[in-house]
Amino acid sequence: MPDLNGYRVVAVHAHPDDEALFTGGTLADMARRGAEVTVITLTLGDEGEVIGGTYGNLVPAGLLGGLRARELEDSARALGVAVEMLGGAGFFRDSGMVGSPAHDDPRALVNRQDEAARLLRTRLACLRPHIVLTYGPDGGYGHPDHVAAHRITHAAAAPEQRVWWAIFDRESHRAGLEAVMAPRGWQKPDEAYFANFTTAGAAVTYPLDDASLAAKKAAMAAHPTQIWLADATVSVTNPRAAVAGVTDPGVVAGAYALSNLLVMPLLRAEHYQAGANCPPQATGLLDGLRP
Ligand SMILES: [Zn+2]
Repeated sequence: MPDLNGYRVVAVHAHPDDEALFTGGTLADMARRGAEVTVITLTLGDEGEVIGGTYGNLVPAGLLGGLRARELEDSARALGVAVEMLGGAGFFRDSGMVGSPAHDDPRALVNRQDEAARLLRTRLACLRPHIVLTYGPDGGYGHPDHVAAHRITHAAAAPEQRVWWAIFDRESHRAGLEAVMAPRGWQKPDEAYFANFTTAGAAVTYPLDDASLAAKKAAMAAHPTQIWLADATVSVTNPRAAVAGVTDPGVVAGAYALSNLLVMPLLRAEHYQAGANCPPQATGLLDGLRP
């Protein structure tokens, strides 16, 4: 039902795969219901770790970003949304972790945040979103590019544009993990790993129906160098099928892992905290907004 005709939504993300992992179900649902949805990705995740050996050499060769640009386009197609890379593909470089050489690279996003904010302000003025999705002040888990995405988005958003922070809600993930049995060879994350999810407590829980979950899973599968779905599918990077046990399908829709092979629950909801310009009592992302 196209009940969101006339609404415009922008999601600002740090790397290819974040659009799927943090906000994929929400974006697919809103797009299917008629909203104009645009993902703006800030870097190509050039410094990311990859699953398996097939593409492992692309990182030291400095070639991973080009492949991830293609994965991002495939993901956006699966979600049914438009996608842009700020400044064009490869304009801002992945900042890597603090202390790494990539972090000091003058092309890195962290070293060009004012420039990125100016460019993003221009794009937001053109796209005129009602709401902008990005991360909280800690970036969701502390990666420098995610923290920068938060700062850049808040510097760029106009006062009438509501900024929501997509989070990996700690309690929901902890509960979801209870309902998952790790595939052979994968591990369950320990408590310290959950402490990485420095955000806790959501203002908005966005439930994902079967169609939204299917689109989110397809978008995740479009990032085979980054995400391994434990649903018995194989990909160019994981020739061996992994199957997670799910003891409570009402709580989780499946499981996946990143290159660390720590099993994560695929929740039936996505979570948001109120950022800038959000009404304090809002329980929906578009509450009170007119198309
Ligand atoms: Zn990221």
